[in-house]
Amino acid sequence: MFCSRRDFTRNALLTAAVSPVLLSESLAAGSGMHTVKRGDTLSGLAQRYGTTVSALKRSNNLRSDLIQVGQKLIIPAQAAANFDPLRTVRAETARINVRRSNWQAIIAHHSAIKKGNAESYGRTHRKRGMQNGLAYHFVIGNGIDSGDGQIEVGPRWTKQLQGGHVKNHQLNLIAIGICLVGNFEIERPTRKQLQSFTLLVDWLQGSVLRRKVRFAGHREIKGEQTVCPGKYFPLSTMHRRFG
Ligand SMILES: [Zn+2]
Repeated sequence: MFCSRRDFTRNALLTAAVSPVLLSESLAAGSGMHTVKRGDTLSGLAQRYGTTVSALKRSNNLRSDLIQVGQKLIIPAQAAANFDPLRTVRAETARINVRRSNWQAIIAHHSAIKKGNAESYGRTHRKRGMQNGLAYHFVIGNGIDSGDGQIEVGPRWTKQLQGGHVKNHQLNLIAIGICLVGNFEIERPTRKQLQSFTLLVDWLQGSVLRRKVRFAGHREIKGEQTVCPGKYFPLSTMHRRFG
């Protein structure tokens, strides 16, 4: 996260007040959950999750094709199993010219709060005076306000803008910021979040940038006073993989 220590404490307190993941407990094993965002349609979601509109309607007892922002939809187990977290990222990236030589680092963050998604963090960051909104390039959901392991692409990636995720301005210019939703000082990232994180960094280095770039957890950067991405984020495992 990019915010101050005071924010961190406040966020930690807020998180403590939120009850555990009730929603996921009500899901059948292997299935997934999607929270409807502005612009989502059943056909779009069916395509994204490799399922059909009728299967989505069946698993959610929907009588019409209308869905509402904020509505939680159960993604059928088979579709959840087929879900390719990179599908959207690949499609969005195919439409842009990536400034390959510009990006020289990838930095991992946690959001330090249990809930949220790219849109809600973007709103918060804008309110805090960041004119480009969402400080990170990518946000990986935990199943509460976006899918578990869903990779959301932020406008700073689609517009190839500098990040706002670290204090160091020079580093913001050249570092891709990836944020996992959750407070990993008090809980672990989900298995799917870590899977998607690994897929994303592998894909960025292997297919997009076509080279290994520096990898770091936010707190490892000199001068950044933060515990981000939290003690439960497996930084050493990631360093073994990404250097
Ligand atoms: Zn951070």
